[in-house]
Amino acid sequence: MKRRAIALFLILMLLCAACTPQPQKNSISGFYFDTVVTITAYAPQSVLEAALALCAEYEALLSKTRDTSDVYRINHANGEAVAVSEAAITILHIANEISKRSGGAFDVTVAPAVALWDFTGESAVLPDDAALRNAVSHIGYQHITIHDDRVTIPKGAELDLGGVAKGYIADEIAAYLTDQGVSSFLLNFGGNVIACGIKPDGSKWNIGIQDPAKPSGAYLITLEASHSAVVTSGTYERGFDLNGVRYHHILDPNTGWPVQNGLISVSIIAERSVYADALSTACFVMGEADGLALIEDMPQTEAVFLYEDGTMHCSSGFKDAEF
Ligand code: AMP
Ligand code: MG
Repeated sequence: MKRRAIALFLILMLLCAACTPQPQKNSISGFYFDTVVTITAYAPQSVLEAALALCAEYEALLSKTRDTSDVYRINHANGEAVAVSEAAITILHIANEISKRSGGAFDVTVAPAVALWDFTGESAVLPDDAALRNAVSHIGYQHITIHDDRVTIPKGAELDLGGVAKGYIADEIAAYLTDQGVSSFLLNFGGNVIACGIKPDGSKWNIGIQDPAKPSGAYLITLEASHSAVVTSGTYERGFDLNGVRYHHILDPNTGWPVQNGLISVSIIAERSVYADALSTACFVMGEADGLALIEDMPQTEAVFLYEDGTMHCSSGFKDAEF
């Protein structure tokens, strides 16, 4: 009798679980960090709204133009130390790590050179050579000093976290959703994509790596992913064409000029989006040989180098990797 009661109880439990409605797939978009941010998740819309509100908070902390942001205050401190958020400190430590590992190809103090270019596509004007050389004289990640929560950069130097911040924020939004009990979601922060979990039908998320020759949204590679970040840095994102040359937003910190090495994009697949983001920019500047050497040295990190002529080279683990 007792056994039958237990069996009945278990069957009832199973029936209840089966009847509990699965969360619906919802999606929300906003414009942050100069790009379209889209969050798709099997979660109530209210959770997505809260996640999007977090983007606004991070933008307020890390924007280069808002006069209350950490980055603005560091850039306008005339060489004085500035107390900043934990987010800014974490980003700067990771940026510093990738700067060292890339031999300075990745450098967030590239800002004075960035400021001399207009990559909105509205005008196709080259900066003044002397002004660019002067800007380059202020570039040097080695001169960023971090003590606890205080950051100092030399007078004349400036930070631009555009090559790494979106990746960091995407990781933070992913952590927030996980904390809220959301187990299946896809984030797209303007080319910084995070896929987490399996969809209710048992399938993984699809992440497309764009074919720049077909900007209409065609994909060159589609990855099935359940626990990965994919970040692409490309010449087609921001820039202009002049006399047959593509001038784009990824700059060589040694010269202040856009990197011209035949690459059209570099995509990095890693566990954390902040690393994928910094590494995609770094590898673009380093080029394939040095970039691949760096990637092969990093665990659970893969890369796809794509050239203007359509050729594509992947890291050695790419083919067999589980994303
Ligand atoms: P991403 O799209 O992640 O490759 O980042 C490109 C953005 O990072 C640019 O729009 C600049 O704001 C900034 N940037 C450009 N060149 C560099 C560089 N060599 N190192 C770090 N950041 C850079
Ligand atoms: Mg980047």
